Amino acid sequence: MSDALPELLDPRRAVASGAKFEGSLPLAKLRRLSAVLENDAGEAHYWLRFGRDEHGRGTVTGEIEAKLALRCQRCVGIFWLDVHAKPVLALVEGPDEAADLPEEYDPLLLEDRLVRSDALIEDELLLAVPSIPRHPEGTCASPPTPDDGGEPQQQHEEGSRPNPFAQLTALKRRRDD
Ligand SMILES: [Zn+2]
Repeated sequence: MSDALPELLDPRRAVASGAKFEGSLPLAKLRRLSAVLENDAGEAHYWLRFGRDEHGRGTVTGEIEAKLALRCQRCVGIFWLDVHAKPVLALVEGPDEAADLPEEYDPLLLEDRLVRSDALIEDELLLAVPSIPRHPEGTCASPPTPDDGGEPQQQHEEGSRPNPFAQLTALKRRRDD
């Protein structure tokens, strides 16, 4: 049997006891995450296991699943991103220790004795949100650019290969106004 995560978790103790947690959290409770979502209904489900690796390092592994409503930066429509995160964290006491971690680990920095469990889950979900959310390539198209002002369009993102001179011209035109 696995319990739900307590609000405040002592990761060192959880490692020492080989604790396992399973449960769900409402996305609306995760403030930083819901700020980037178009709809914060729904929940994140998690399965986390604390333990030690063969070097005695305290670790957290498991799975976190959620459906996140994001706004596509190409067609400006909303789409649902299925997130299936598999965190592999190692407990570290400071930045030096974090820098020394093997590549397969992300650091879980222990500044205080206790960490907020929802922040731990939230960080993993935030990592899964692409910096430029978009439908899969080829499944949607940019809306036609309005000629008369309107909202500035966020095009020219990575991958769309903007013409640098077009941007320069736009800058210059603005300066001449
Ligand atoms: Zn789209």
